[in-house]
Amino acid sequence: MRGQLSFYLIIAVIVLLVTMLGSYLSFTKMRPPTISQTEIVIPPESPPGGPPSPPVIPLPQEKQKPIVSNLKYVPGVNRLQVFLVPINYEVNDPEFLDRVADYIGFAMEESNLTLGQFYIIPEAFDHGRSACPDANLILSFADDWHQRTYGLALPAREMHGKVPSHRHRVVGIDSWQGALASCGCGYTNDIYGPASYIGGGKCSRKPEALSHELGHSFGLCDEYDTCTWEQTSAALQRLRNVPCMNVRPDENNSICGNNCCSNVTACCIGKYADTKEDNAYNVMGAVGSTVTYHISNESGILMARYMCRWLQICGVTR
Ligand SMILES: [Zn+2]
Repeated sequence: MRGQLSFYLIIAVIVLLVTMLGSYLSFTKMRPPTISQTEIVIPPESPPGGPPSPPVIPLPQEKQKPIVSNLKYVPGVNRLQVFLVPINYEVNDPEFLDRVADYIGFAMEESNLTLGQFYIIPEAFDHGRSACPDANLILSFADDWHQRTYGLALPAREMHGKVPSHRHRVVGIDSWQGALASCGCGYTNDIYGPASYIGGGKCSRKPEALSHELGHSFGLCDEYDTCTWEQTSAALQRLRNVPCMNVRPDENNSICGNNCCSNVTACCIGKYADTKEDNAYNVMGAVGSTVTYHISNESGILMARYMCRWLQICGVTR
């Protein structure tokens, strides 16, 4: 009886062990498979010389100025030639050359004028720093230099009805700071005239100053005062049978509203270039302020039209 009991006990223990082993085996089957070594993604090594550099963000650079110290000129080659005359400057004065580079850089960026159309007359004009020089005296000085150097006068004007066109411009650039009081920032003798003067005051040294004076030579009037525009347009109508090419400043196209300053001074900066939202002003307004200036689409198209019709410089678009 006792031996039979022991037998059953042994059987029970064996059954228990087999059951436990089965449970263990089924448990191990449910575990996720072990990740083999080949499945491990090894991060790529850093390139030689250490980790890669962060991306380089370029700093805003100053606009490249054109090199103006070796401009070339051959008579009769260009259909439009702009002569620059140093006034109260040595011809190679770095300050003079720097101003010229600013003027030409602005004009080239904003219009279809090219570097090859500019030339510095290698002789200085001295007006003695006591009075404002007449732009026609600067023109005579340039013509005299041209005749002595090339045996030729500057090209004669052509007439289109009563409107003249010239193949040359002569612009005097003065070092004299006192010019501001007597001459203002600069002037051009007549609308459509080839002779201009730029003084030595702060406003004259702004890059847009030359483009403003050249604008007059293409038939554009001042835009900083409604009365100045109206008086100039009326005078042009009498003399040349045409109005100002650019439209009158008003409350919609300018910051001037309908202000009239009776030609004493500039009322305001002038017309927008090209809309109020652009936050920039046209160069035919009062130059020299700290605002942004451009040659507006209107002025640019009018200049291009003059060049194509009367100087046969066509096909250059802005
Ligand atoms: Zn002007």
